[in-house]
Amino acid sequence: MKKNFLFFALTISIYFLIPIALRAQAKPYVILLSFDAFRWDYVNRGITPNLDKIKADGVWALSLRPAFPSKTFPNHQTIITGMYPEHHGIIHNDFTNPFTKEKYKISDSVSVTDPKWYLGEAFWQTCERQGIKTASYFWPGSELSDSTRRPTYYEHYEHKRNYYTIIKGVTAWLKLPYKDRPHFIATYVHETDDMGHRYGPNSPEVNRAIQIEDSLVGFLFNSLKQANMLDSTNVIILSDHGMTEVSKEKIINIEETIGSESKIDGVGPVMMIEPKTGKIAEIYDKLKRNEDHYKVYTRDNIPEYYEFSEHPFIYSIIVIADPGWTLVDNSSKASVMKYQQAGNHGYDKDFIDMQGIFLATGPVFKKAYRTGTLWNIDVYPLLCKILGIIPRSNIDGKFERIGFILK
Ligand SMILES: [Zn+2]
Repeated sequence: MKKNFLFFALTISIYFLIPIALRAQAKPYVILLSFDAFRWDYVNRGITPNLDKIKADGVWALSLRPAFPSKTFPNHQTIITGMYPEHHGIIHNDFTNPFTKEKYKISDSVSVTDPKWYLGEAFWQTCERQGIKTASYFWPGSELSDSTRRPTYYEHYEHKRNYYTIIKGVTAWLKLPYKDRPHFIATYVHETDDMGHRYGPNSPEVNRAIQIEDSLVGFLFNSLKQANMLDSTNVIILSDHGMTEVSKEKIINIEETIGSESKIDGVGPVMMIEPKTGKIAEIYDKLKRNEDHYKVYTRDNIPEYYEFSEHPFIYSIIVIADPGWTLVDNSSKASVMKYQQAGNHGYDKDFIDMQGIFLATGPVFKKAYRTGTLWNIDVYPLLCKILGIIPRSNIDGKFERIGFILK
């Protein structure tokens, strides 16, 4: 009797175990590759044979709408958390906690790895909580000092690391033994951003950067093929924002309008102003009366469309430059006049130059499918669906807005 029971128990166990194992094996692989500042139209220049292949065979969106402000760290966090910056907490590349005076700066590795600034749950954490191994090769904000908020595998950022080394690192993770292999890998390459700032989006240098990144795409797919991973891997190639031309002729010194009593933060397309107590209306009125080549809002009247009012570190007044214009104050004017670059981003998310790319290919995606503009807040719920896991309930992204690109 006891023997029979043991046999029965064993049979039942095997019955339940096999489908679970099979289901685990069937889980797809996803590579999320971000090309910093790869503007939506760079894929239409006839110089990207490898991306052109995805345009023809996979999913190709007209553009990818960033979150406001269209800056690198806010948008990489938006893509990986499905939240607007006012909710995930990285409201700009550099900003201050006005209550403690502490600063978040992307050039400061201590603040960038300090978990307290990051209020959203990154997709890799959602995966790891649900038993899926993940990896990041340089995704902005993937090196937090709290190990529970990092991917299983990650690399410390080095701006000058060879791009082929990065792609080799990504494919090496896919060659790990099955039990150690990550199912999600996020990675990042910055060439188009560097060249876009320095020479402008319409320069031969940017075209060269586009070609470099396109050849990395070719290298990635060849490596996947050699690793026998091509048929089971889904690749999403996107960018955090676009790029537009700026010049020394389009500079506005806000301090000339409001005087020097207020606290001013940010140089470029977006500036935040905290007037002295009781002076908000007065400073706002001054800026509103002189509103020329910029828009001024208070935290209370900024249109909901910007999704930029709820975070407590957002100042009382927000100034947004018109496309191509640069906001400065007395202290930053001289250096901007001297070092003004040819391109910038950070402007309104619907300004077409601020929009990025979205291309995707692999077993879960529709074939030869062209669609309109997608929103980058929806990438997180898309990733959850592909890997069959439950998204966080407090996100801004909606699977319903993007799910139609899946088979
Ligand atoms: Zn960027």
